[in-house]
Amino acid sequence: MGRLQAGGMSTPTTPTPVDVLVVGGGIGGLSTAFALSREGLRVRVLEQAAELGEVGAGIQLAPNCTRILDDYGLLEEATSLGVLPRSMVMRDALDGSELTRLDLIDLQRRYGFPYMVIHRGDLHALFLRACRRAGVDLVTSAKVTGYENTGAGARVTLADGRTDQARIVIAADGLHSVARKLLVDDEPVSSAYVAYRGTVPIDQVAPERNVDLSEVSVHVGPRCHFVLYGLRGGELLNQVAVFESPKARAGEEDWGTPDELDDAFAAACPEVRAGIPLMWRDRWWRMYDRDPIMTWVHGDIALLGDAAHPPLQYLAQGAIMAIEDGWVLARHVAARRAADGAIDWPGVLTAYEAVRPEHCRRVLLTARDWGDLWHLDGPRRLRRNAILRARDVYDYSFTEWLYGPTALTPEEEPPMFTPIPLDSAEVPALSRRTR
Ligand SMILES: Cc1cc2nc3c(=O)[nH]c(=O)nc-3n(C[C@H](O)[C@H](O)[C@H](O)COP(=O)(O)OP(=O)(O)OC[C@H]3O[C@@H](n4cnc5c(N)ncnc54)[C@H](O)[C@@H]3O)c2cc1C
Repeated sequence: MGRLQAGGMSTPTTPTPVDVLVVGGGIGGLSTAFALSREGLRVRVLEQAAELGEVGAGIQLAPNCTRILDDYGLLEEATSLGVLPRSMVMRDALDGSELTRLDLIDLQRRYGFPYMVIHRGDLHALFLRACRRAGVDLVTSAKVTGYENTGAGARVTLADGRTDQARIVIAADGLHSVARKLLVDDEPVSSAYVAYRGTVPIDQVAPERNVDLSEVSVHVGPRCHFVLYGLRGGELLNQVAVFESPKARAGEEDWGTPDELDDAFAAACPEVRAGIPLMWRDRWWRMYDRDPIMTWVHGDIALLGDAAHPPLQYLAQGAIMAIEDGWVLARHVAARRAADGAIDWPGVLTAYEAVRPEHCRRVLLTARDWGDLWHLDGPRRLRRNAILRARDVYDYSFTEWLYGPTALTPEEEPPMFTPIPLDSAEVPALSRRTR
């Protein structure tokens, strides 16, 4: 068996034994490796790519994530790299009118931790540095193709035939997880929506657009939406344009291509249309999720992050759920360590599986509903707008179950919010409070 080394080099020595192998060096894998190493565990990350990094643009981190960053001692560093917007404003993408907002200053007061936006690459690099400081063994060019339980732990096989093993294997191998096949024979579910992203230096943005970087701005419209916020202390403008692809709906293979982008936003308000020319056109992200599964553990192998629960992105909780998974695992390790240092791993994995799948199931299903609500057309769009405008902007029943402290047990999981009564006859008698 070859020593697994970063950069794909191998020498004929036995791998240094570790307690935990984490497959996948994305935000989920790295944050989990860091969390477990903080508990004194020896951790190795196996990443298929030749280099560790993140493609993409911005990411939103709600208080349920910044609370964990604070616990990790990483919040200050993250804050120095990101932006703390003052509000999140939802507008109609056709007429540009405001529908509702979150006061993110008040939100921080309520939940104790900020709402942050940060470049994905910066968040990934933050965890990478933390892993390096903690002594996590980071191995690249290591594509895992097989998993097996050995009775004393679990073993993985790599594409080049090498193997590695540990007491526990955490599979954080993303949407197309190989490990997930141990638990369920399912496939990603296409939403027929595609995301275009783009970041540009703020000085390249036309001044007449009056872009307000103290906001996270979301325009919702028929079969499309448009998100905008600042990154890196306001040096960069981050934009995301998402739309339903007519070619996907028609069953064509080559869907979501740039020729569909302009058409999708042709009827949008001027503020949205002004953003479209700044989108990257050389890459795009087709939006998939998977149906929730409630079993994530197979012997000594456990799923984590998108491997377990890839969501549609409408609640902006995908990476956060992955970070929460790792935090919950580490907390249960701490709670189940005997005086001699031995860890009750079956107890840890049972506790993990008792709490995380139900929370993530709620997020996955709510994200689908939330996306449907954003993309309404015709009379239902008008009805949605009326309901959102009537909403008390200081009503936190939408966010309580998401942004409150991450539950460690099913009993700690807060109840879900009551869904918007879109089909009932009456618009709820809510009044907008302007504190
Ligand atoms: C447009 C868009 C906007 C989003 N916005 C937000 C947001 O605002 N907030 C938020 O929290 N989330 C957001 N998300 C979701 C978030 O990006 C993902 O949920 C998150 O990145 C998942 O992290 P992960 O580590 O589980 O998986 P991934 O990031 O997919 O990482 C998996 C890693 O495993 C590696 N790997 C895969 N297979 C193997 C293998 N066989 N062997 C070894 N390595 C392997 C991959 O190379 C990769 O490095 C958004 C997603 C999209 C598409």
